[in-house]
Amino acid sequence: MTAIVVIAEVSDSDFDPITAELVSAALQTGAEEVHVVAWGLTQSQAVGYEGVKSILLAECAPNSVEQIKELIHQALMRTQATCVVASFNWRNTEFAASVAAMNDMSIVTDCLSLETQPSGWRVSRPAYSGKVEVDLHVDGGLVALLRDRVWPAARRDPVPVVTMSTLTSVSAVSQVGSTEAPRSGVDLNSAGVIFAVGRGLGAEGVPEFVELTNRLGVALGASRPVVDAGWLPHAHQIGQSGTSVAPRLYIAFGISGAMQHLVGIRKAQRIVAINTDPQAPIFSIADVAVVAEGTEVVKAMLDLLPSS
Ligand SMILES: Cc1cc2nc3c(=O)[nH]c(=O)nc-3n(C[C@H](O)[C@H](O)[C@H](O)COP(=O)(O)OP(=O)(O)OC[C@H]3O[C@@H](n4cnc5c(N)ncnc54)[C@H](O)[C@@H]3O)c2cc1C
Repeated sequence: MTAIVVIAEVSDSDFDPITAELVSAALQTGAEEVHVVAWGLTQSQAVGYEGVKSILLAECAPNSVEQIKELIHQALMRTQATCVVASFNWRNTEFAASVAAMNDMSIVTDCLSLETQPSGWRVSRPAYSGKVEVDLHVDGGLVALLRDRVWPAARRDPVPVVTMSTLTSVSAVSQVGSTEAPRSGVDLNSAGVIFAVGRGLGAEGVPEFVELTNRLGVALGASRPVVDAGWLPHAHQIGQSGTSVAPRLYIAFGISGAMQHLVGIRKAQRIVAINTDPQAPIFSIADVAVVAEGTEVVKAMLDLLPSS
């Protein structure tokens, strides 16, 4: 019997939408049982997902690596699971290595695919800044941190909730407080349409570009030089050191198409690129290539739109 334990992401007293993706990834592996481990929810808030065997609910200090790893260990013992699936984020990166070491498992981060194999797991992840995707065969247990927005969301459905014992482990680290990071108001992750601006439009082209995105009501993305130059905040950056996006439509204005940018838009369904250079690398992955002065396209679009 192959079982997987999914570590839930929780926000606003509910499972965060990322949890549905993690569950769907676990269900698609071919494992016979998928269990979800969660803390920070009440029993009535822990409505599960279709195909999930149980929700293992516990009390746990949200940022205590020691308690989280203890909790996951208990969940593995209880379910006999040989794989832990969690989202690839800062919190999980902090405890994943400890969990792997404690349970004699391997760890793979930024996973793009995951499936069972007779002796373990087959998993893929990007390497060399996304230039290649490597396939890994893992014998034995695995802690897999999955990239967001790769798998579809699983459907909600009530499943049995099992309350796990409250953790009593004494922590060498005590939390003295926590401060919510200010929300940027930029939500590139769930945006359906993104217009992204690159260095090619220059500092003087950015205000009109922002005006265009506001009037159209589309999300505003940017390449790294635009952010490094201070023309837009980092929350708008797309790419290796920014956000990975998966919109229906991505339109790049004056972006060359460096690998570190492309790695963030690989899940875009349709890519339109506007660039003055017919040889710009971004054209090699674009569905529609427009050789044009980006600022003129912005002006022409603004002229067609009613002013706000
Ligand atoms: C570790 C690391 C991490 C990185 N992370 C990221 C990341 O997360 N995101 C990211 O974007 N980059 C990232 N980079 C930087 C990346 O390598 C590129 O330097 C960057 O993506 C280039 O941005 P750009 O396309 O806007 O600028 P450029 O490469 O300078 O391209 C500008 C483009 O605009 C075109 N152009 C010029 N004038 C016009 C005009 N008037 N109209 C239309 N087109 C015009 C030019 O032909 C050119 O193709 C990273 C680099 C490193 C080393």
